[in-house]
Amino acid sequence: MSPHDANARLRARDLAAVWHPCTQMRDHAGPDPLPMTPIVRGEGAWLVDANGKRYLDAVSSWWTNIFGHANPRIGAAVKDQLDTLEHVIFAGFTHEPAIELAEKLLRIAPAGFARVFFADNGSSAVEVALKMSFHYWRNVGKTGKTRFIALTGSYHGETLGALSVTDVPLYRATYAPLLHEPIFVASPDCFERAPGESWREHSLRKLEDMRAALEHHAHEVCAVIVEPLVQCAGGMRMYDPAYLAGLRKLCDEFGVHLIADEIAVGFARTGTLFACEQAGIAPDFLCLSKGLTGGFMPLSAVLTTSDVYAAFWAEYNAGKAFLHSHSYTGNPLACRAALATLAIFRDEPVLERNRELAAHIARRLAPLADHPHVADVRQTGMIAALELVRDKAAHVPFASAERRGLRVYRHGLERGVLLRPLGDVVYFMPPYVIAPDEIDLMIDVAIEGIERAVN
Ligand code: PMP
Repeated sequence: MSPHDANARLRARDLAAVWHPCTQMRDHAGPDPLPMTPIVRGEGAWLVDANGKRYLDAVSSWWTNIFGHANPRIGAAVKDQLDTLEHVIFAGFTHEPAIELAEKLLRIAPAGFARVFFADNGSSAVEVALKMSFHYWRNVGKTGKTRFIALTGSYHGETLGALSVTDVPLYRATYAPLLHEPIFVASPDCFERAPGESWREHSLRKLEDMRAALEHHAHEVCAVIVEPLVQCAGGMRMYDPAYLAGLRKLCDEFGVHLIADEIAVGFARTGTLFACEQAGIAPDFLCLSKGLTGGFMPLSAVLTTSDVYAAFWAEYNAGKAFLHSHSYTGNPLACRAALATLAIFRDEPVLERNRELAAHIARRLAPLADHPHVADVRQTGMIAALELVRDKAAHVPFASAERRGLRVYRHGLERGVLLRPLGDVVYFMPPYVIAPDEIDLMIDVAIEGIERAVN
């Protein structure tokens, strides 16, 4: 190891002490190890490693970073808060950043919400929504409602409750014996649509499966939980807003809650501030995290209605209070990061700019529709994805053991672009501060990587 190789020194220390998420650690050992890249600095859409090499963050660091790394405006807000109040217990005590954030979230979210419950990461927001929905029905006397409906291909997090309503085998299969069993209903995922069928037709057709499940199970179901418009970790599978509009009606008809997990798609990712807006609906629970703080601090929020809130309002000994607490609930530093993030939305034409960036991405990806190993080029706002397959006509995937997507990942790192395919789905989910020439680089490098991966 060269004494000048700062990356190698940090990597060696890391691999001797740290256990990383979503990782077979052995991949980082052996003769052809996957790189473990130590990052020392971020600037806008870029990350810089310990040797000074730059990487374009095409995945917004797990979809959290919307306004760039080390964003000065968000950073200044956190620094200001640091000298005042870093944290305070959130039961019996409160603070202005949390109050103001709750007020502002209620103002910008789809109409109908009245309360904000804070937690500290996406999975815990999902846990809160599931428990709150179950507890609501219990408090109003419907104790038979103990189950949930989720879509096939869904991902809602990896704590045990959130993992229970997740249907990505990679994360779920091993732990299945520990999980509660939801009712999985076929996703409206438009990759599965019939030849000649539109997104809308396919999505609407899939509502029939949901109706059938509700007819059979509504009496025992608390809520349907969905990722609005894009099932992200399940492979950036997309569907039409008409499905959400129909689902809202079905939930009302059958007396079950609708939980919208906008942890990944909220905050302008899909072209509107919240994905539910495109269907003109409000769910009973809206889960937010990731972009909420611009990717600076862990924080999540669950918005709900006055009807839900009222069901918990009772004399103490009635035992109706909602019980779910995390030490860092409503952390003031995180709330200030979120307020600064919302201020950027207020002051800058983010949605308009994203529309132009999304159109640029679409133009650059369009030729890939003819690629013999790309079965689908799909996009919803600032999320775009390419589905690599062995056989395009029959949608036959590559054997997963071949890890084709990983070759794209490796190539990206060599060329200074952080692409992190989900299996063989190569996707783009960059920060909104990415420039058109950076989009060109991101897509050029992805295409090179795909050529290497499929040949
Ligand atoms: N829901 C969705 C839709 C997500 O994409 C994620 C994270 N990828 C989560 C929940 C879980 O969030 P966290 O990783 O912060 O627990």
